[in-house]
Amino acid sequence: MTPFENYLAILSRASTYTTVSSQELLVLQTPNHVHQKNISITRDDGSTLVLPAYRVQHNNARGPYKGGIRFHSAADIEEVKALAALMAIKCAVVGIPLGGGKGGVQVDPKTLSEKELQAVSRAWARAFADVIGVDKDIPAPDVYTTPQIMAWMVDEFEKVVGHSEVGVITGKPLALHGSKGRGIATALGGTMVLEEYCKEKGLDIKQIRVAIQGYGNAGQTMARLLVERGFNLVAVSDSKGGVYGDRLSVDALDATKKEKGTVAEFLAGKKITNEELLECECDVLIPAALDNQVTIANAHRIKAKHILELANGPVSSEADSILFSNGVTVIPDVLANAGGVTVSYFEWVQNRQQYYWEEDEVFAKLKKIMVSSFAEVYALAKKNNCSLRDSAFTIAVGRILDAMRLRGTV
Ligand code: NAD
Repeated sequence: MTPFENYLAILSRASTYTTVSSQELLVLQTPNHVHQKNISITRDDGSTLVLPAYRVQHNNARGPYKGGIRFHSAADIEEVKALAALMAIKCAVVGIPLGGGKGGVQVDPKTLSEKELQAVSRAWARAFADVIGVDKDIPAPDVYTTPQIMAWMVDEFEKVVGHSEVGVITGKPLALHGSKGRGIATALGGTMVLEEYCKEKGLDIKQIRVAIQGYGNAGQTMARLLVERGFNLVAVSDSKGGVYGDRLSVDALDATKKEKGTVAEFLAGKKITNEELLECECDVLIPAALDNQVTIANAHRIKAKHILELANGPVSSEADSILFSNGVTVIPDVLANAGGVTVSYFEWVQNRQQYYWEEDEVFAKLKKIMVSSFAEVYALAKKNNCSLRDSAFTIAVGRILDAMRLRGTV
């Protein structure tokens, strides 16, 4: 199944828990706009590099489109379409007034120099300047895109439109009016959700063994936050492999990542592959890298009893059903990693009012949203005897359709 087919499968399952007409379902199944262009840059050696680039705008019934931009060699149109749809669902799950979109460039950024990376970032902003905007569509970082890349994009966008509009993109550096707390927001939101989940299940945090796949912005920060709260970090990995042990030290892991470029070189543990990490002995598995990691091929070998999806779409729809029947609870991406877009929303609000909040204010507002969203999703899952994902989708579909019905567009 492609990532978009996965989205369609979940949508059709969730629509059985609520009243959705076939016309309404069709609207939710179809992106409003798919923008696809080739962008080109001049490489350092003088040659020309042409790259496929995308912006997909799935639904804006609840507010302007919102979603990150991914630079990755696997970022094709199917993946970006799925991620855009998930953004619409995610914003609705946490009740922020935004729709869903996503962008991408099909490129391996590790093959680019700093100058070439800047050229790709500026080329993306020029290519899609007519479809993004503070009231239209607000991009942000995603896999292998950074606050620096957002800064280049804002600069290029403002050159095209001819006025200041920093709120067009979130996830910016603080000096360019980013929000305090945005850097750790995804992982902090995930941590808040996991703590609420542990309370509901009566799980003792100190006894919980956690394995995290992906040691980037989301995964690395989550590792630190969980260890600070007493969780037992037993495994981590990045694109080059991973390590398994007991009470792994995040300071030592960070130092290894910085020095050697990978956590796989960490010596105080056993070397493991990414496949082994997914299937390792642990209580909570946190995929925090790419989509489609737990699939029909390995779902029955997963030993964790709880999965928290910090990445977008890491568990396929078929795997979902296997895990549910094996008694494995999946805390879905559209709730678990929604802290990122929630603080992106705060950044957008602050940019619009030109008035900036302290970090504790950001985190207090984030906590209120994450805790209440978790409670809503958990309660509906209990009532409907369904997975947390189906519950989250049911809530989101209801909110999006309410907005569309009120507008008279369905
Ligand atoms: P990142 O680029 O900072 O980190 C990605 C990490 O994944 C890196 O450590 C990389 O080495 C690792 N990785 C890549 N391929 C891998 C593989 N095959 N196996 C194991 N590890 C691999 O990206 P990020 O911002 O941390 O995003 C990670 C995931 O979290 C993505 O799915 C993204 O959509 C999702 N997410 C991120 C945010 C955010 O605010 N950063 C918000 C919501 C969702």
